[in-house]
Amino acid sequence: MKAQSPYLAHSTTCCPHVWIWVIVLFSLAFAGLPASAGEPASSPVTDTPRWWRGNLHTHTFWSSDGDAFPESIAQWYKDHGYNFLAFTDHGILLQGEQWKNFPNQQARTEYRKLFGDEWVQTRTNNHDGRIQVRLRTLEEFRPMFEEPQKFLLIMGNEISAGGHVVALNQDVLLVPDRAAPGGRYGSIRDVVNKVDACRASSGRSMFAILAHPNYTWAVSAEMMIDIETLRFFEVYNGHPRGNNDGDAHRASTDRMWDIVLASRLSNKNGKLLYGVAADDAHNYHGGSCGPGRGWVMVNSAQLTPEAILDALEQGDFYATTGVMLRKMSQSSGTIRVEIAPQEGVQYITEYVGTRRGVDLANTPTLGADGQKIPNATRTYSRSIGDVLFRSTNACSRYTFSGDELYVRVRITSSADHVDPVTAQSLGDKQRAWGQPMVLSEHRSPNNKE
Ligand SMILES: [Zn+2]
Ligand SMILES: [Zn+2]
Repeated sequence: MKAQSPYLAHSTTCCPHVWIWVIVLFSLAFAGLPASAGEPASSPVTDTPRWWRGNLHTHTFWSSDGDAFPESIAQWYKDHGYNFLAFTDHGILLQGEQWKNFPNQQARTEYRKLFGDEWVQTRTNNHDGRIQVRLRTLEEFRPMFEEPQKFLLIMGNEISAGGHVVALNQDVLLVPDRAAPGGRYGSIRDVVNKVDACRASSGRSMFAILAHPNYTWAVSAEMMIDIETLRFFEVYNGHPRGNNDGDAHRASTDRMWDIVLASRLSNKNGKLLYGVAADDAHNYHGGSCGPGRGWVMVNSAQLTPEAILDALEQGDFYATTGVMLRKMSQSSGTIRVEIAPQEGVQYITEYVGTRRGVDLANTPTLGADGQKIPNATRTYSRSIGDVLFRSTNACSRYTFSGDELYVRVRITSSADHVDPVTAQSLGDKQRAWGQPMVLSEHRSPNNKE
């Protein structure tokens, strides 16, 4: 690859005014829809990839802490322009027989109203006389919602292993080893490896995502570096205690991502780490942890579990909390980004990267009292995760100079990030994150061997 200075990379004029409305219309049709949009349109089966919108982390009544029936949740996501949804309740798959007390009369009435008397199976709890309902399995309600090339439901679960791990497309429940050597680090590593082993033995597509590393400040960047089989993490989690942006002392998930990438890729065999955005929704009636806050846009021709997971593993997706893209690609050493702009909204596109030979020296992170913060991500050089180029245009590009370990795209919009259920601001701006890219001559561009 011929070396070219990144500073020669520049915002292009690929969106002249005459094309802007064409792109806007195209984007509305193909680049995913805002959270307030209606049911997704069906797309014919072709070999042409398109963007599919999906949420990879959702809780329901099957968990102890989700507050709606999975059928109502599937309906919400389908009604709001999503194409796929993964159910990831805590330590349980939506299969087998499961009874639950109705939380109140209103839930009982609503469930019957939405899905009919025949669908709602009840019994009286012998112990306390309360009315119980049998939760319908995913296989039972899947036919009510799934449509080819339009809407897909994926089985998964969230495994508590000190930190939390979301496993997608599982058909058996994996049990974490909480006594694994290495404490929390060892338990998370054990779960990630168990998911990979399950995949190898079953031949079924599946993988693990480290959920909300900064929730209770459970997982540091160093843990993610050392769990070298970990290939996905949540750069954005919609839970109000996800601490995505860190705090005055502790690193944001965005910063942790660069530390992991710089450390791993300085090693010749180091694996990329991909970042997803997910709701981790628990509350569907206006609570603090609602749906529609963060999602992924996956570039794939087919809407099947295998095709979606395969595209995710190829890094052919972006994470977003509202910024929508028409295009994000790399060819011939140039990354190209085209935002699907909203009228009156400004965007800052940053090409973030780390150069070869970067100093990986680090020190403990100290709190306001000057004392080391236990378990916090350590403090590293600001050359890790440097902004290599910045653009305020809807279309921009960056050409590798050849000495980058990786380059990734981060887009921040001037528009508030708003909860689509409560219409309240979530306190941040809408963002999007592209996946780290490397020059293909240096290493495989994706996580596959
Ligand atoms: Zn969790
Ligand atoms: Zn969760």
